[in-house]
Amino acid sequence: MNNIIHLLPDHIANQIAAGEVIQRPASAVKELLENAVDAGATTIKLLVNDAGKALIQVIDNGKGMSADDAKMAFERHATSKISQIEDLFRIKTMGFRGEALASIAAVAQVELKTRRAEDELGSLVEVAHSKIIQQEACVAPVGTSISMKNLFFNIPARRNFLKSNAAEMRHIMDEFIRVAMAYPEIFFSLNSNGQEVYHLEAGTRKQRIVQILGNSYNAKLVNVLEETDYMTISGFVGKPETARKTRGDQYFFVNNRFIKSAYLNHAVNAAFEGMIAKDSFPSYVLYIALDPTQVDINVHPTKQEIKFEDEKIIYAFVQAAVKHALAQFSIAPSLDFSLNADIQGLDAVSKPFTAHQQEAAVSSSLYKTFSQKHQAHFIEPTPKSELKSWKDFFKPSADSSGTIAGLSDANTLEEQYTGGRLLQIPQVQHYLQVQQSYIIATTATGFLLVHQQLAHERILYEQYSQAVHNKQAPTQKSLFPIPLELAESDKVLLQELLPDLHLIGYQIEEDEQHQYVIQGTPADVSTGNEKHAIDMLIEQFKHFNSDVNFSKKEKLIRCMAKQQATKTGTQLELKEMAALVTALFECNTPNISPTGNPTYIEYKGNYLEQLFKR
Ligand code: ADP
Ligand code: MG
Repeated sequence: MNNIIHLLPDHIANQIAAGEVIQRPASAVKELLENAVDAGATTIKLLVNDAGKALIQVIDNGKGMSADDAKMAFERHATSKISQIEDLFRIKTMGFRGEALASIAAVAQVELKTRRAEDELGSLVEVAHSKIIQQEACVAPVGTSISMKNLFFNIPARRNFLKSNAAEMRHIMDEFIRVAMAYPEIFFSLNSNGQEVYHLEAGTRKQRIVQILGNSYNAKLVNVLEETDYMTISGFVGKPETARKTRGDQYFFVNNRFIKSAYLNHAVNAAFEGMIAKDSFPSYVLYIALDPTQVDINVHPTKQEIKFEDEKIIYAFVQAAVKHALAQFSIAPSLDFSLNADIQGLDAVSKPFTAHQQEAAVSSSLYKTFSQKHQAHFIEPTPKSELKSWKDFFKPSADSSGTIAGLSDANTLEEQYTGGRLLQIPQVQHYLQVQQSYIIATTATGFLLVHQQLAHERILYEQYSQAVHNKQAPTQKSLFPIPLELAESDKVLLQELLPDLHLIGYQIEEDEQHQYVIQGTPADVSTGNEKHAIDMLIEQFKHFNSDVNFSKKEKLIRCMAKQQATKTGTQLELKEMAALVTALFECNTPNISPTGNPTYIEYKGNYLEQLFKR
């Protein structure tokens, strides 16, 4: 007997295979919830004890199983969801591998009770060690109740590997939330050790999201909706103020399946650029729906990663949809929500096809959404012709002399365009200040209502950023050196800030007695106010320090912008208003203040008409 290869006993093979699907209680929760969804349930209850280690039970009112199916369900590769290989490419259900129940049966003691509406009696099946140990007819409500006890009871090594109850419960709640968010039309509840943790009535998506993420989101969700023949994206993004220090409330669903995609996450972040701090994370719940043939959900056993046929187009689409939504929310004139210039260089968009491919591509509905005017994602074929159409926005009006620097000059315009900025800059005709807080700037088509303080914060924020990141800002020399009397702890703080303060335009030096002395300030700090400005800055910086996770530079810039901005309640001269509005529109992101509020609102002719219901 020299042969050394032998077949593994079934129960060991099953346990090994089960390891792929069921890593922890939360994996079983996910599979059982998905089965209930696939069964068409409208009510799904999840009960767990000891974070699922002692018991996981899912009760649904779905279509149930026949007595034979109830037994079959525990066989490996037993599924009712696909029957031929082609089915794999048009999956509409959550499950399809036929592995979940087999895996669960290999690692826990399972009891299944199920009844179909057409059967008078239901069936009860008990399974342990992958073997059916009992089956009998029983009285049962329509639907399925499946409970699994003592997960990994037969594999102590795995059981020991489980984390604390708190950690495993967190995983369970994550899976529960992901399924519940995808199916707001289904009632879900989660009960842990006899206590109800979630009770989610059926409702709209928005209601479901608010139920899960908390009421504070109610007024802070911006609707996202873009539809094309190829795909639809819908859902919500949080207003900039809901951005978090930690990657928290970010959810992507593709055909109602929760997925993790760093790539698509990047697309959303890119859409928020300039509206939230660089190191914070926007919140979003986005649902992508597309033809199942365009995605491969088969690449990962637990199906959280998927492959798209054409990832780059999905990226562009997601980014454009979010930008569009944000632009609408801020009621700003068209933010640049056309596709990123990079997209035009993509193989998918620019590579020459074979004639045959080209023909097929051009007639596809996807292509049309990007290539036909008046479609949301229209891309002009070449940058040159795009420039031509955008130029129309910049036609100098009669009295625009110098209102907005450089814009009547076609060359400058071209440079500006290629610099990637694509903003509609209004030609202002008159200015008027209201309540010493707002500026009304009339344009050819209506008027802008500008918030003077928020607008000024945006302007200063960009100026300071530029100074800190690129070049030295001008300093105005103080006539007399101004000594700063600082507490020791504040001195330490100031010392850390000195290099950046210097870039912004401050000149602060240490004298022989180790006291700091102001020798010069940025041009916009008024005389007499220098010492106070630094005191305030240190105070604000300390305050900011504790609640927002910005980099030191970013914090400094934000404090400075807030502090130096012309406050509401300040009377402005005509000249000052003009300078402010002009400078605002020279900003990269004129429509949003550094804290995420709108800086101005545009009222256009037809909107005004509507207000008067004409
Ligand atoms: P899959 O979901 O991949 O088909 P599973 O092992 O999860 O594989 O389930 C096997 C089969 O058992 C399913 O295809 C389905 O027919 C049946 N089944 C499982 N759970 C339920 C349920 N809650 N209600 C009705 N049928 C179910
Ligand atoms: Mg399943």
